[in-house]
Amino acid sequence: MDTLGLYLSIPFCKSKCTYCNFASGVFPSIYFGQYIARLEDDLHAIRGKAAQWGAALPEIVDTVYLGGGTPSLLPPELPTRLFAAIRREFIVLPSAEITVECAPGQLEDPALAAMVECSVNRISFGVQSFIDDEAKHTGRLHTREIALRDVERARSAGIPHINVDLIAGLPGQTRASWTESLSVLAGTAVDHASIYMLEVDEDSRLGREVASGGLRYYAPQVPADDAIAEMYSEATEFLAANGLQQYEISNFSRIGAESQHNLKYWRRNSYLGLGLDAHSMFRTHSGAALRFATADELEPFLESPGWTEVNRLSREEEFEEAWFLGLRLNEGVSLSRLRAEFDVARVQALEPVLTELECERLITWTGEHVALTARGRLMSNEVFEHFLVEAASI
Ligand code: SF4
Repeated sequence: MDTLGLYLSIPFCKSKCTYCNFASGVFPSIYFGQYIARLEDDLHAIRGKAAQWGAALPEIVDTVYLGGGTPSLLPPELPTRLFAAIRREFIVLPSAEITVECAPGQLEDPALAAMVECSVNRISFGVQSFIDDEAKHTGRLHTREIALRDVERARSAGIPHINVDLIAGLPGQTRASWTESLSVLAGTAVDHASIYMLEVDEDSRLGREVASGGLRYYAPQVPADDAIAEMYSEATEFLAANGLQQYEISNFSRIGAESQHNLKYWRRNSYLGLGLDAHSMFRTHSGAALRFATADELEPFLESPGWTEVNRLSREEEFEEAWFLGLRLNEGVSLSRLRAEFDVARVQALEPVLTELECERLITWTGEHVALTARGRLMSNEVFEHFLVEAASI
């Protein structure tokens, strides 16, 4: 029986972090109610829409994720309304993993109480750094003390699973300060951590500044790529030594505390994303994968109900995705499963590239299993590119 992961984007933030490349923003609170009403409508309409696309949208939801910005900023009655709408339109399993993203210092008691009331059982805190100056220089509004206090408050309120995000590569970060952030994280005894390397791209203010050699947002103090790679490698070893095993390029957990929602993305299971700049993947009655996304600017999103164009993936695209999503996971890709889903010849045609990547120590290839090595995880973009070029030429 296919189940569904449900992602709802809540794009409201109190300040815009300099490294942020999401569609979130500091929007007036007058939009809050209108936005939630739109999500309620979309939750109601999506099943009919999916039927028009020939898709079988699963009714049973086993993961819910509220993210995108800072959902805890909403007045508590709004997420309560949203959870009620989810439960009207879908069957949410009592065992479902229900996550809400929170910014430390922006989780008031009534919001936390409403989450517990709505059966939220996982909070993901966007800490990014436990060093106060590093957090402040990227526009975060919390200190270490506030972040630690919020982790404890969430725990005391009865939230059993807690994730902390950190970023390697923030302006001013050093090996010593990074080690300190990791140590503080380990001291919280949370059961999940996400470690991201700073993305330098056109989609964030800091990224643009670094790419153009600019001076704003402390861009000149961004560590060199090699230093960031070393920080990431240190995190992998340090967290493992502290009971948080890596299971995906950016994700680490205690056994059994892996994010069930995010695993759906990498395992190509069905998920539905609603709200600003949300993405979905589910299958038609014939098994073909459908993807669609929503608008990524708030006012057009609110003003023009409707869905962006649906993309029906070709078998080639599905094959590529099976590789580059599967390789993100430490468990890697099973060749026998790929042969069963696609065809033997297609999998066989990739063997020369597998041999090449194995010689370069970027993957391990043991019989039926292919996975990235630690070096391969550091150079994952290069590996994926290599795969895409080869897979496209088959
Ligand atoms: S709180 Fe999160 S979503 Fe909001 S601006 Fe910062 S990084 Fe982006």
